[in-house]
Amino acid sequence: MTAFIDPRTGDPIITPCMKVDPETFFRTGEGDEARAKALCASCPATARRDCLSLAQKVERDHGHGYKYGVWSMMNPSERGRMSDRKAVA
Ligand code: SF4
Repeated sequence: MTAFIDPRTGDPIITPCMKVDPETFFRTGEGDEARAKALCASCPATARRDCLSLAQKVERDHGHGYKYGVWSMMNPSERGRMSDRKAVA
């Protein structure tokens, strides 16, 4: 994953995903998604928000077929529904 910056201090935020195998967020076995989401749940809110923005930008730039993994506690379907709601609003 990528490093996000704490807007108050300007320091990089060490996120939970930086401490584990990146594949943790892309596995599709039983319980894998829940484990990835649990890691995201302990991520600072600022980083989680920036993470979601980055995921949505990547997915928007690469088209609807490019949706993989858990980012910001959301799987691809959940992010897609969120993007669809924004598009309608
Ligand atoms: S929300 Fe999850 S995937 Fe995003 S930076 Fe935090 S731990 Fe990593």
